[in-house]
Amino acid sequence: MTNPSLLILPGDGIGPEVMAEVRKIIDWYGTKRDMVFDVSEGLVGGCSYDAHGTPLTDETMEKAQEVDAVLLGAVGGPKYDDLDFSVKPERGLLRLRKEMDLYANLRPAQCFDALADFSSLKKDVVAGLDIMIVRELTSGIYFGEPRGIFEEGNERVGINTQRYTESEIERVARSAFELARKRGNKVCSMEKANVMESGILWRAVVSEVHEKEYPDVELSHMYADAGAMQLCRWPKQFDVIVTDNLFGDLLSDAAAMLTGSLGMLPSASLGAPMANGRPKALYEPVHGSAPDIAGQGKANPIACVLSFAMALRYSFDKGDEADRLEAAVEKVLADGVRTADLLGEEGVTPVSTSEMGDAIVAALNASL
Ligand code: NAD
Repeated sequence: MTNPSLLILPGDGIGPEVMAEVRKIIDWYGTKRDMVFDVSEGLVGGCSYDAHGTPLTDETMEKAQEVDAVLLGAVGGPKYDDLDFSVKPERGLLRLRKEMDLYANLRPAQCFDALADFSSLKKDVVAGLDIMIVRELTSGIYFGEPRGIFEEGNERVGINTQRYTESEIERVARSAFELARKRGNKVCSMEKANVMESGILWRAVVSEVHEKEYPDVELSHMYADAGAMQLCRWPKQFDVIVTDNLFGDLLSDAAAMLTGSLGMLPSASLGAPMANGRPKALYEPVHGSAPDIAGQGKANPIACVLSFAMALRYSFDKGDEADRLEAAVEKVLADGVRTADLLGEEGVTPVSTSEMGDAIVAALNASL
């Protein structure tokens, strides 16, 4: 049997620093758990522009289509701010998402007990929180036509169009129901069916998929504005939330910040199953390239490490090993190990990016 394949794209800024820590963990799985990955590495973002004049070469794009999963660090930085829009670092990331047709964006909001004090909400509201937002990523108002700024009479009008087909709603609904079955078996679908026709269709299609294919999963519907309120009031009522591109953008950012630092948040973007049954998949931390701390050994690698844990769970069907890695992160935090972004308590000296990676590897060793 061939080894599972992984394309690593560290990118810019702190991307290579946090990815170096994930490499330690990948090596650990190879030597200690006999899980050897065929790892290849490529360029994306500004570093690819520097080397090739494009934020993503066709060769790297092709490689991304062939492998079992792509793991990305971050792209961008002030050095590239004045580049033409067509070659900006972010275009490399957008091309990957678009050409791999990654329609389901999974953003967990999980609160580690040791960090519950970091939330802007009360500790009992967030401690133990573990929810998953599934955002539709390739359609909706960010892509619908017509769009643009037009002259109308004697003024300009800005237009974007919210458009969803049944099949686009069906496939992301399936992703949410499948996930729910592996978690708390509950899905809450959010839209604005009270004021938007696309919301009426969204609600109807999600209900149909539920009735026909997933009657065992508990389904509820909520207007997205009420959902935003409930996320702040009592987020633990949710398990999986499924929503469209625009609402998902807002709700997942709000939910993510319930849990504290940007340096802690992983994500997965999944597409249709490939011939081997694995979904097309891109895993990446939510944070950017953090140019303000790049090159200083201050970056928190946990978001990237937890993104790899998601890869273990969703691409490689190793939920038990993903649990092990998440438990190792939890242990390290419970032991008081903190990178600079997680400092709250007085008298705690921050560890470096690489020391945090080593601490996670030590916790993995202790788990055997
Ligand atoms: P950012 O996420 O890079 O940084 C925001 C703040 O959070 C900074 O103060 C940074 O130091 C801190 N931070 C982020 N990640 C951290 C980590 N792992 N550990 C410790 N602190 C961390 O967002 P920004 O400053 O708005 O953007 C910087 C660059 O990143 C821009 O070029 C932007 O376009 C790009 N960006 C890329 C992505 C991506 O690659 N997916 C996402 C967002 C922003």
